[in-house]
Amino acid sequence: MEQDAPALIGDFSIAANKFPAESSGLAEGNRIQLFKMECLYLSTNIRIVLISGKSLMKQAMERTPALTQLTEDEKMLQDAAKDFAESQIRPKTRAMDEDAELDPELVRQFFDMGLMGIEIPEKYRGGGGTFFMSIVAIEQISRVDASVGVFMDVQNTLVNNAFLNWANDDIKERYLPQLANDKVGAYCLSEADSGSDAFALKTTAREEGDEYVLNGSKLWITNAKEADIFLVFANTNPDAGYKGITAFIVEREFEGFSVSKKEDKLGIRASSTCEILLENCHVPKKNILGDVGNGYKVAIETLNEGRIGIGAQMVGIAQGALDAALGYTQERKQFKKKISDFQGVRFQLARMATDIETARLLVYNSARLKENGERFLKEAAMAKYHASEVAENVSSLAVDLFGGYGYVKEYPVEKYYRDAKIGKIYEGTSNMQLNTISKLLLK
Ligand SMILES: Cc1cc2nc3c(=O)[nH]c(=O)nc-3n(C[C@H](O)[C@H](O)[C@H](O)COP(=O)(O)OP(=O)(O)OC[C@H]3O[C@@H](n4cnc5c(N)ncnc54)[C@H](O)[C@@H]3O)c2cc1C
Repeated sequence: MEQDAPALIGDFSIAANKFPAESSGLAEGNRIQLFKMECLYLSTNIRIVLISGKSLMKQAMERTPALTQLTEDEKMLQDAAKDFAESQIRPKTRAMDEDAELDPELVRQFFDMGLMGIEIPEKYRGGGGTFFMSIVAIEQISRVDASVGVFMDVQNTLVNNAFLNWANDDIKERYLPQLANDKVGAYCLSEADSGSDAFALKTTAREEGDEYVLNGSKLWITNAKEADIFLVFANTNPDAGYKGITAFIVEREFEGFSVSKKEDKLGIRASSTCEILLENCHVPKKNILGDVGNGYKVAIETLNEGRIGIGAQMVGIAQGALDAALGYTQERKQFKKKISDFQGVRFQLARMATDIETARLLVYNSARLKENGERFLKEAAMAKYHASEVAENVSSLAVDLFGGYGYVKEYPVEKYYRDAKIGKIYEGTSNMQLNTISKLLLK
C-alpha cells in the first residue's frame, strides 16, 4: 500500500484511520504510532512503500534523526522558553538594557519556570532534564535578550554543571535544591591579571582548622549582583602552581566576602558583571567542590561544556537579528517596492540564514556529543568560535538592512549587534578557541 504525503500533521488519532484496523490487523496504539512514523518519513521527502507494520517500525527505529529534529521533551521546553521570552522578557528588554539591570521579577519567573535547574535531578527538586534541553532554552531566551540568556546559561552550564559533575552527596543535598529553586549561582575564575591564562590566578586559600581562609579578588563575575552561591577558584599551594587550585563554594553571607564594583558594559548590559572581594573569607572545608588541588580540572572541564552554552547564546542573538530583519525588509519600501523585493537584500537574508544554520548545527552537534559521553572538546570550541563570528556578522548585517533605523535604540538590532561582541571574549576568547582546535588537529 503506497501512501500520499499527508497535507497536515495534526491529530494522530484521527489520521491513524488511514490504516484501518480491519485491513492492517493492528491495535489502535500501533496504528497511531505507524502514522506518526509515516509523517516522519514523508516530512523528509522520502516516499515509502508500506510493506508491513513490523518492517516499517524497524526501519523507523534504525533511522538517525537530524540534529535539528528535537525530541518531544526538547520541543516542549523550546516552545515554553520561546513563549516566555516573547511574552515576559521582550517587553522589558529595552528598559533593562538602559538601566543595566535585570528585572527582579524575571529572576523569580525563571525559577518558577524551572529554567534555572534544567539538568538538576528531580530528587533535588530540579527539572530532571538534559544538557541539550538547557542549550535549546538558552538559544530561545537569547533570541529575545542575550543578557537574560547568559543569566540562565551561567546557572545551568557552569554552576549547576560543576556541582553535578564534582559534588559529593552532602554538597548535592545542601546546594542543588537551592540552585534549582531560589538561589542564583556565579562562577568566579577570572582575575585582573589572569584571563586567558586563568591558572595564573593569585587568590589564595590558607588552611585553618576545619576552614580555609581565602584572600584575593575576582573580576568580571557574571550574575554577581543576583547570586547567593559563588563557585570560587583559589590556590591552596601556590608553590605547586596550577595543581594547588581548588574550587570553593562560598555563600554571599560568609564573613570576608563582598561584591564590589559593577561594570558598565557595551552589550549584555542587563547581565551583572562585578568584582568580588575575598578579605579573610572563611569557608568551611566541607564546602570544597571536588578535591583540594583538582580545582583546575573542575574549572577547565566545566568551561569545556559551558562554551557550548555560549554558542547557543550566539545562535539566539543571530536568529533574533535575522527575524527582526525579515520583518523590517518586508515592510520598508524604497523605489516603490518592499526592500525585500531587491535581489541584493534577498541574498543578504539568505546568507544570514545559512550562516545561522551552520552555527546551530555545530552547537547542537557538540551538545549531543557531550550528552552521549563522546569527545566534544574540538567541536565545542568550533561551535563557540563559529557561532560568535556568525552572531557578530549577522547582527551587523541586520543593522545595515535597517538603514538609519538600525543605528538607533528605538529598533532592536543595534542591541543584538552590541550583545554579539561578548561571544568572542568570555569563556575563552576566539584566539583561545583556535588554540584548542589547532592543538587537537595537530597533535
Ligand atoms: C561581560 C563579561 C562577563 C564575564 N563573566 C565571567 C564570569 O562569570 N566568570 C569568570 O571567571 N570570568 C568571566 N569573564 C572573564 C572572561 O572570561 C575573560 O575576560 C576572558 O577569558 C579573557 O581574559 P582577559 O579579559 O584577561 O583577556 P586577555 O587574556 O588579556 O586577552 C587579551 C587578548 O589577548 C589574546 N591572547 C591572550 N593569550 C593568547 C594566546 N596564548 N594566544 C593568542 N592570543 C592570546 C586574547 O585572545 C585577547 O584577544 C567575563 C568577561 C566579561 C567581559
